Amino acid sequence: MRPDLLDLLRCPFCGGRLALVESGFVNRDGDDVLDGILGCHCCAFPIVDGIPIVHLEPAAAAAREHLDAGRPDLARRAMFGFEAGADAGRFEAAAASPSATYRDIVDALGPHFEGGYFLYRFTDPTYLVSQAVVGAVAETMLAGGGRAIDVCGGSGHLTRTLLGLSAAPPVLADLYFSKVWLARRFTAPGCDGVCCDGNAPLPFARGAFRLAICSDAYHYIWTKRLFASEMIRLTETGDRRRAVVISHTHNANQWNPSAGMPLPPEAYRDLFADVSPRLFGDAALLDDIIERQQVDLSRPTPPDALDRERALTIVASPDPGVFASRAVRTATAARGEFRLNPLYAETAEGDDVRLALHFPSDDYEQEYGAARRYLPETMTVARAALAALPATVVPPGLVEAVRRRVVVDLPMRYY
Ligand SMILES: [Zn+2]
Repeated sequence: MRPDLLDLLRCPFCGGRLALVESGFVNRDGDDVLDGILGCHCCAFPIVDGIPIVHLEPAAAAAREHLDAGRPDLARRAMFGFEAGADAGRFEAAAASPSATYRDIVDALGPHFEGGYFLYRFTDPTYLVSQAVVGAVAETMLAGGGRAIDVCGGSGHLTRTLLGLSAAPPVLADLYFSKVWLARRFTAPGCDGVCCDGNAPLPFARGAFRLAICSDAYHYIWTKRLFASEMIRLTETGDRRRAVVISHTHNANQWNPSAGMPLPPEAYRDLFADVSPRLFGDAALLDDIIERQQVDLSRPTPPDALDRERALTIVASPDPGVFASRAVRTATAARGEFRLNPLYAETAEGDDVRLALHFPSDDYEQEYGAARRYLPETMTVARAALAALPATVVPPGLVEAVRRRVVVDLPMRYY
């Protein structure tokens, strides 16, 4: 944990600043705190592996006790849910290996960890829309500086989009320690991670961020009114240059396989009424991205069409400059490295390689089948071109494969 994160952190219960308990156990790496205890007027919160845990779930209490006893190893085990110790060994061996991949760690976390589909996140339709919208809003909001936060950001796939745009490192907040840990190691290296509960007041100062985003999670939040007012409070910068983006939240008027507790469009709009919200249908946004390579925030989806959408995106900002149409660009240089999309299988054909799209399961097909609209069923590329991967610039002969997302810019050591 970088020391300047303390300027942003506030206790979710008393609202007080958090300070490192210098008399307790502290494990540092230079100025950064790896393990230690944060105190406020009312609580003590553990920092484990550089991640402050600002909630009071049982695992956090156990981790704090382990730190009091000088055992950061057991604190980490508690936060990963390995309190029994039975299957911690396999995970800890993977975590200790510098060559371990995101996929290795997810496998070592066991079948109960909902990591399976996250391997394919970078080309699923939900991500395509969220990434395009967040990228467009962030470019406008953060052009003159300012910081962004990704709330309920999971293992950091969208936080990654904010890395080059947020002046100070973007903050990733999520309830699940394992996801924040994965993000900091693989998906969004350099981000600041915080564990907190989206159903409680968010543990940050007023106006700490110009942009607050939440993707594919708002329908799982029960205290939606509190969450909306907290997202607005976090971005109360004192000027117009601020925005909240809630992307991919389910529509209560339509069936969804993993519905959560969705609201109808007008209820979502009411929750953000104080900051000029505009609502968009995710299918309408996806059409624009696929057919026109544009993310168009200048035309909100009309109410009758919005009602028919399964998922919605809310963009709320007092700055009208946010509501514009922008081109969706194809990267020519990788943030990580260009690799074959893990949804594709290779078959040798002489000097060529035939790449074929394979969905990992019927469930994936049902939820993300719209990916077939832009991912080709098959593509043939020269073996020599494919052999140039991994690469940091697009290899000659793979320009079309990158444009079609058969070859993608992935985090280092992703799979
Ligand atoms: Zn407190």
